[in-house]
Amino acid sequence: MALDRKSVPNDLSAFWMPFTANRQFKQAPRLLVGADGMWYKTHDGRDVLDGTAGLWCCNAGHNRPKITEAIRQQAGELDYAPAFQMSHPKAFELASALRDMAPDGIDHAFFTNSGSESVETALKIAIAYHRARGEGTRTRLIGREKGYHGVNFGGISVGGLVNNRKFFGTLLNGVDHLPHTQLAENAFTKGVPEHGAYLADDLERKIALHGADTIAAVIVEPVAGSAGVIMPPKGYLEKLRKITREHGILLIFDEVITGFGRTGAAFGADTFGIQPDMMTTAKGLTNGVIPMGAVLVSGDIHDTFMTGPDHMIELFHGYTYSGNPMAAAAGLATLETYREEDLFTRAADMAPYWEEALHSLRDCRHVIDIRNIGLIGAIELEPMAGEPTKRAFNAFLQAYEKGILIRTTGDIIAMSPPLIIEKEHIDQLVGTLRDVLTTLD
Ligand code: PMP
Repeated sequence: MALDRKSVPNDLSAFWMPFTANRQFKQAPRLLVGADGMWYKTHDGRDVLDGTAGLWCCNAGHNRPKITEAIRQQAGELDYAPAFQMSHPKAFELASALRDMAPDGIDHAFFTNSGSESVETALKIAIAYHRARGEGTRTRLIGREKGYHGVNFGGISVGGLVNNRKFFGTLLNGVDHLPHTQLAENAFTKGVPEHGAYLADDLERKIALHGADTIAAVIVEPVAGSAGVIMPPKGYLEKLRKITREHGILLIFDEVITGFGRTGAAFGADTFGIQPDMMTTAKGLTNGVIPMGAVLVSGDIHDTFMTGPDHMIELFHGYTYSGNPMAAAAGLATLETYREEDLFTRAADMAPYWEEALHSLRDCRHVIDIRNIGLIGAIELEPMAGEPTKRAFNAFLQAYEKGILIRTTGDIIAMSPPLIIEKEHIDQLVGTLRDVLTTLD
């Protein structure tokens, strides 16, 4: 990369950074000033190997010419088009491309700008869908402990990460949570664990308690990402699908992380062989380059709205930037890149090497679990006495100093590299992590 050393701005005070310990960060900032392929360039001139695809989003790696060129061209051609009662060709082309990529039966796309907005949109569609069918009593939503569904009020209500909820007052009414699926007896399982399908039976109890005719939807991540890469036990998602179908409840897969090749197929739905009614997506949809999300919806749901007088707006919902031209151009170029380079197959082919490399860390100090599927993985550390989350965060800091970017959540190190990763990159990631774990307090 041609980029040279860049200094830190003089004034860091105005920017209130998201999900960041601001005061600590500003004492020792970590700024990125360039990116190419598998690598970031830091403000102090170092190359850092991207073990996280940015924030689980740059699945094709960085600075992909096809994507940047598509954005450049689009910017010079049509910078913005009103999103309501108007549109532009690429939004339709991208929706069609998503339909072609999605599992059979999922055939419409509603565009948003982020994962959080995709979640809000899907929850609203679920409730409005039942109402449109004359079942307006179905308004309850069911999420899962440790689930992450973005940070808006609907998403934190169905979400199950305590810190993301507890500071924000009264959340949505009528929300329940299934138990999470992280079981001690599954520790160090490679791929999908054996035990825990029974955890889905809790849905039957919720139905017995409230009545199916009050429940609109169940939302889960096929693999819970932000909570630390928690797998669905064998048979668990099948059970959820069976129970929801029997009771007329919609099943929403939040595929914001698992979408676009992360689990070794286009979507988690494909990897696990389950057909949800809706899928929320974002991140890898545009390779993280321009904010965009999409809710992918079944024909049945879509067609339910397409009744009534045809001059009527069918769904009173949308965003100024839904299907934004630059985002749509980036999305089309991204999906083409995935297809041309067969990156989802590549992820599946590389997954066994990734799995073996990660599990080779099993005997390192502090490691109490390792989990993986496709090109995603997590290493769980024993919490430091009295200071939970500190050990993993120290690992992140040391790893960054030693030239690899990992992510931590609580006491868990999570990794989700770009799908273009080579074996030598995996060796470097895991080798550096081994060094870090060896010296970590
Ligand atoms: N859902 C899931 C499963 C996610 O992992 C995320 C982000 N990590 C979101 C929703 C929210 O996406 P965003 O940050 O784009 O709003």
